[in-house]
Amino acid sequence: MTRLISGDAEPFEGGSDRALRPQTLAEFVGQEQAKANLKVFIEAARTRGEALDHVLLFGPPGLGKTTLAQIVARELGVNFRATSGPVLAKAGDLAAILTNLEPRDVLFIDEIHRLAANVEEILYPAMEDHVLDLIIGEGPSARSIRIDLAPFTLVAATTRAGLLATPLRDRFGIPLRLEFYTHAELAKVLAHAAGKLGVGLTADGAAEIAARSRGTPRVAGRLLRRVRDFVNADGAETIDAKGAAKALARLDVDPAGLDSLDRRYLRALIENYGGGPAGVETLAYAIAEARDAVEDVIEPYLMQQGFIQRTPRGRVATARAYAQIGLTPPPQMPS
Ligand code: ADP
Repeated sequence: MTRLISGDAEPFEGGSDRALRPQTLAEFVGQEQAKANLKVFIEAARTRGEALDHVLLFGPPGLGKTTLAQIVARELGVNFRATSGPVLAKAGDLAAILTNLEPRDVLFIDEIHRLAANVEEILYPAMEDHVLDLIIGEGPSARSIRIDLAPFTLVAATTRAGLLATPLRDRFGIPLRLEFYTHAELAKVLAHAAGKLGVGLTADGAAEIAARSRGTPRVAGRLLRRVRDFVNADGAETIDAKGAAKALARLDVDPAGLDSLDRRYLRALIENYGGGPAGVETLAYAIAEARDAVEDVIEPYLMQQGFIQRTPRGRVATARAYAQIGLTPPPQMPS
């Protein structure tokens, strides 16, 4: 899904994304509860000289899961190794990484819900007892060997905790849910990013972009870069509210932060299915998007903003959704 306000990372912005990443817990804006808890656990692990308990970070894309994992390693003063569920195709891939870890290192596995079952199996004893149980050979000559591992911390990220098998979820001592950011928090992220990018940003300019960033720092950073392009093209050096609003209108991001894809989703729900209830599969099909993208990126924000409701029978549009796309809601609508 290529869209300006998708929370997903795009390979091309790797470099600039990295430059904008906060480096310490203190620099990391928002998520106060998660940060406060982590601080205590990190301090305790450091004092005892032990590996931090395994951490599970869950929440929509772009909320700072990777950033937080890196910060945890830095604050612990240990190495950071990163991989992801889909990359670890064979048990041997994970075994190679695990056997190379030094004591107390942080191993980050992104998209842990996409781990293959055979890889997940060797992860259990590794997490629990710091051992690897490998089967060598096949058939009657197959034998199992056990390798001791250094105690390590697994920091895993997933868009939805519900996607994980219960035995895996239960092995994380520190589950942390990341929430959408408030406008004020996003304005802070933007001010910081503008400083690093070397572009002027007024307080009302930051507020304008923050309000349209879907509660997501990655979206805020991406919008900031595109708005800067428009403002620079107009010969200005500083982004103010007027410049930001004009640029964002041209980028087709409306004042609520919705783009054409969100509006297509709402339109499909309302016009094709009478406002619902409609199943997510049906809706994904109607707007020609992958179900995962609809559930991970489009719906969480629409739900949080009260445009849709999730019911046992499917998604239902609220009065706010009708208003958003310029339609009058039928009487007795959920608001
Ligand atoms: P995720 O792993 O959840 O998809 P990332 O950690 O890759 O998200 O963060 C996406 C972008 O948003 C990065 O450029 C990062 O610098 C920025 N970012 C995320 N959280 C914060 C935060 N709390 N404060 C400042 N910038 C943030």
